[in-house]
Amino acid sequence: MSQPATKKKSKLLTISNLVSRRAPRDYPQAVHDLVVQVKSYLNRAAIDDIVEAYKLGAWAHRNQFRKSGDPYITHPVQAASLLADFHLDKTTIIAAILHDTLEDTEVTYQDLDDKFGKEVADLVDGVTKIGQIEFETKEHAEAENIRKMLLAMSRDIRVMLIKLADRLHNIRTLDSMPRNKQLRIAGQTLDIFAPIANRLGLNQWANELQDLSFKTMYPKRYEKLVKTLDRKQGNRKAILTKIKISIKEHLRAANIKARVYSRKKNIYSIYRKMQKKAVSLDEIRDIYGLRIIVDSRDHCYLTLGAIHSLYKPVANRFKDYIAIPKINGYQSLHTTVFGSFGEVLEIQIRTEKMHHLSETGVAAHWYYKSFGGESNIAPQEHARQWLVDLLDTQKQAGNPSEFLEHLKVDLFPDEVYVFTPKGDIKKLPQGATALDFAYSIHSEIGNSCIGIEVNGSPVPFYTQLKSGDHVKIQTDKHSVPSPTWLNYVKTAKARASLRSFLHGNRRSDSIKLGQKLLERELKEEGLALSAITEERKSALIERIDLGSWDDLLADIGQGKRLPLVVMYQLIDDVCGIRLKAEPSPLTIEGSEGVMVNFARCCHPIPGDEILGYFAEGKGVVIHTQSCPNRAEYSKHPEKWIPVTWSKDIDRSFPVTLRMDTKNKPGVLASLATVIAANHSNINTVSVEERDGKFSIIRFTIEVENRTHLATIIRKIRALEGVIKISRVKG
Ligand code: MN
Repeated sequence: MSQPATKKKSKLLTISNLVSRRAPRDYPQAVHDLVVQVKSYLNRAAIDDIVEAYKLGAWAHRNQFRKSGDPYITHPVQAASLLADFHLDKTTIIAAILHDTLEDTEVTYQDLDDKFGKEVADLVDGVTKIGQIEFETKEHAEAENIRKMLLAMSRDIRVMLIKLADRLHNIRTLDSMPRNKQLRIAGQTLDIFAPIANRLGLNQWANELQDLSFKTMYPKRYEKLVKTLDRKQGNRKAILTKIKISIKEHLRAANIKARVYSRKKNIYSIYRKMQKKAVSLDEIRDIYGLRIIVDSRDHCYLTLGAIHSLYKPVANRFKDYIAIPKINGYQSLHTTVFGSFGEVLEIQIRTEKMHHLSETGVAAHWYYKSFGGESNIAPQEHARQWLVDLLDTQKQAGNPSEFLEHLKVDLFPDEVYVFTPKGDIKKLPQGATALDFAYSIHSEIGNSCIGIEVNGSPVPFYTQLKSGDHVKIQTDKHSVPSPTWLNYVKTAKARASLRSFLHGNRRSDSIKLGQKLLERELKEEGLALSAITEERKSALIERIDLGSWDDLLADIGQGKRLPLVVMYQLIDDVCGIRLKAEPSPLTIEGSEGVMVNFARCCHPIPGDEILGYFAEGKGVVIHTQSCPNRAEYSKHPEKWIPVTWSKDIDRSFPVTLRMDTKNKPGVLASLATVIAANHSNINTVSVEERDGKFSIIRFTIEVENRTHLATIIRKIRALEGVIKISRVKG
């Protein structure tokens, strides 16, 4: 199964080596531009990595071209440039360059992980997942849910920043696309992405996304507005210039350093204003204005005084957003004055920092960080810091804000958003399972659930849902819920529905249900309950410390015990199966005294997310959550048992690694040395030669847990001649 992937990877390595010999002057201009940009804030090593990312991207997209005829790679490189404007970190720049490789090329997650590390691989994966969500623009409430879903999916805020840069570049270069695609992208951008950018405080991007989408959707209206605005501005250009000069002179005399420039409101916001207030363009007054940037907060107020002494302010139009910032953190002084020729003019005054924050929002923190050298601050920490700053400014202003609470939920979601088969979005708490989803639709749906598909494949009922999942429930009217489901649900609603069903059962019903469930299990094994002797029953009841046989059946009927487990406890030594396990390193709910095995397909080690599968004759077999055979086992959801690792595990576990090496003498010896030095042993080893130059070495070693494994992998990766190393699963 892993064969094609192997071939693909070695090809990738060879070609990327070839590419690296090519002289940099062959690179498209966009790459040179990007390098110049990142040089201003990243070190040499980081720039080398970025160029490596370009080489991989250029190779991966080598056969693709943009509609304009440019090589495809210019698109992701230019998207990366947009992020470099904000001084985003190296990881983000690399991920942006590679953001379309997983979706459109043969590059795999593993390739990215091997070459650039897990962070880059996860970012690209996140961007890809957002891109795969299909949504048509819908009514307001639905759009809001989609926005939340997308933010929830990009748990690392940098995923959304890359997606927004991707979208901004796409929409800048929309012209050569077919009309229907243009309309779809523009509509989506206006409804979903521009508001997200706005919410994150990226006003500069939000404005451009809006204007360009608006232009695409309503070219005639846009054209007309622009023309009218240009004409109006043309008339006033000379006047504006005069006013600018006189303000500058005035400020210079007052010893205030300032930049003064005229600004135009964004077209879309003018359009919206006209629509909302049902007014014509002539009736909108603050279309033109001046912006004055000074170097301190005090100078903002001094500048305001200077302006008011120069021009007469319009009454009631002064706003102090410095003392009382807008809800998204925006700070400025706004005033409207009568210019020297009687025309009305809006003036904004702010500091450089206020200006930057108001344009770049959540991204601003990377910018300021970049002047303090390489930073280790986590991306979510940047987002959190931004929120804290916003909250602070709001608090000072005595304006506790719902918006911020709302934003917090979006940035640090404790909810997941999933699709129903009809394409509606359902909100569930973080950690909710597929079964919770069934109950969230209706308790009847939950109670009669017989199968669940997530993204087209059947899954165990307790599978945790992720934002963006498509979930489909199969029901059967005659089916009743299993008491074991209580282990599988997380939401109060599902639990309550299940409880009420099970409790609705009188004790006699629970006993009956327990007996039915136990009989069904025994039947699978070719046995009948009547064949179990009374002594055997009493022995079991005594062993697990219950009062009576009926207590045991009632326990099963109420979901306190798994019928499968009881069945095995009961037939212990009938079939010669060893049920008394050695002291198990696992805690398994409801599995007292049952044998535990570790799957050979995926070799779980402590730290891995695991699942227990009840296999006849083998007890509980532990698989990793990501086991490639999981789909196969998922056909029997009732046999899965939730398991967790216990805290004090005192043994080691086998794990298989695969290493691609150059054929050099001594590779195996240095490998063995590293492994021994890190307190592990090689159990087995196999070497497979590839075209004389490379070898693939597969070996199994014993490790204590994931941390131990990660240390060993890191040490091996650093060895001379090792091209890549990865854990083999399945
Ligand atoms: Mn793209």
